[in-house]
Amino acid sequence: MKEQTVAIHAGYNKDGQSTMAVPIYQSTAYEFPNTDYARELFELKIEGNIYTRLMNPTTDVFEKRFSILEGGISGIATASGMSAIFYAIANVAESGDNIIVAKQVYGGTTTLTSHTIKRFGIEARYFNIENPEEINELADDKTKLILFESISNPSIDLADFDKIVKIADRLNIITCVDNTVATPILCKPIDFGCDIVVHSSSKYTTGQGLAIGGIIVEGKSAKSKIVDNPRYSHFNEPDMSYHGLIYSKASDNPFSLRARLSLLRDLGATPSPFNTWLYIQGIETLPLRMVQHSKSALEIAKFLESHPKVKRVNYSGLKSNKNFHLAERYFPKGQSGLLSFELNSLEEAKRVAESTKIFKLVVNIGDSKSIITHPASTTHQQLSKQELIDAGVPEGLIRLSVGLEDREDLIKDLKEALD
Ligand code: PLP
Repeated sequence: MKEQTVAIHAGYNKDGQSTMAVPIYQSTAYEFPNTDYARELFELKIEGNIYTRLMNPTTDVFEKRFSILEGGISGIATASGMSAIFYAIANVAESGDNIIVAKQVYGGTTTLTSHTIKRFGIEARYFNIENPEEINELADDKTKLILFESISNPSIDLADFDKIVKIADRLNIITCVDNTVATPILCKPIDFGCDIVVHSSSKYTTGQGLAIGGIIVEGKSAKSKIVDNPRYSHFNEPDMSYHGLIYSKASDNPFSLRARLSLLRDLGATPSPFNTWLYIQGIETLPLRMVQHSKSALEIAKFLESHPKVKRVNYSGLKSNKNFHLAERYFPKGQSGLLSFELNSLEEAKRVAESTKIFKLVVNIGDSKSIITHPASTTHQQLSKQELIDAGVPEGLIRLSVGLEDREDLIKDLKEALD
């Protein structure tokens, strides 16, 4: 099936009522016909529903549809993008381990990796996305994950998958890509050799800013990095919390299986079936919307580039952008609706952010409604001065999430705010 057909049909085989729309299974639990059946479910001898903290039929459609779109083999929906990222880390790393993270990532990912996981004994080491060779120096026997964003928020840097994957494959370390900004429509990191993809489905997935959620997608290649790799011994040895299950032997998708059986079971950041139903509705139009968001963002980037008050525009679709060659290679259908631009001072940035009328001052991205954000005083406010520099967030930086309104109205709105 082609992408637009997948977006509308994949993962749903109709229930007993033949409903065209996927039903919302708003239920905590499921009745077992007898105890033997229940035991076999728990022993993973048969597939079926046990309890919504672990699985749900509505969520299952979302997981299947989204992971097919990403070119993955399975998906685990989570209660937020942050829990998806945390679970991806917690699935592989424990106290004493380290992970390698791009400096240019979402502010929440920086605080998660530099502060929160540190308290669990996991160290984060940072590399510059523009210089993936740094990974070679940072990695050692205890490195469990290489984490980066395909299009970084808000610096709008692009990952050079070929370079990163080559290094990660040589070191035999799992790569994990946050593909929130690009979505699987504009880029499928698994096709470029990445192993795991995470998303905040709070963004483009509904496309209307309706529900917080996330998803982890496993690519086929994850298993080959896991099997018999001493780095991932906990996947290759019996898990005594699940009566001796060996994940790498039990499944073709050991990463997802462990995330579900161990992390969802014990930590429980499970999405509501109502939210995953909303994602299913959103996915139907995702391919159409992402192309439109990208077209408008490019026009707006061109306008900003020509404005005398704008110091710099970050949008890889611009021919002048340092990453234009990467955009052509990895993001040929468009470079998403997210762009940022720099003004001369903090005061000027604040004034513009407060002056637009259609662009609303909001800390979100990926909505049909256009959004303007001043990262240094909001999303990246908890970062130190050095972390701000590393993340590519100067004080005068403004981030735009270009929505689906009329493009001319959006340009007029920005022009009036700047002038
Ligand atoms: N990843 C990226 C790139 C984001 O922009 C965000 C939130 O803005 C997140 C992850 C976190 O997602 P959530 O807000 O769903 O927890």
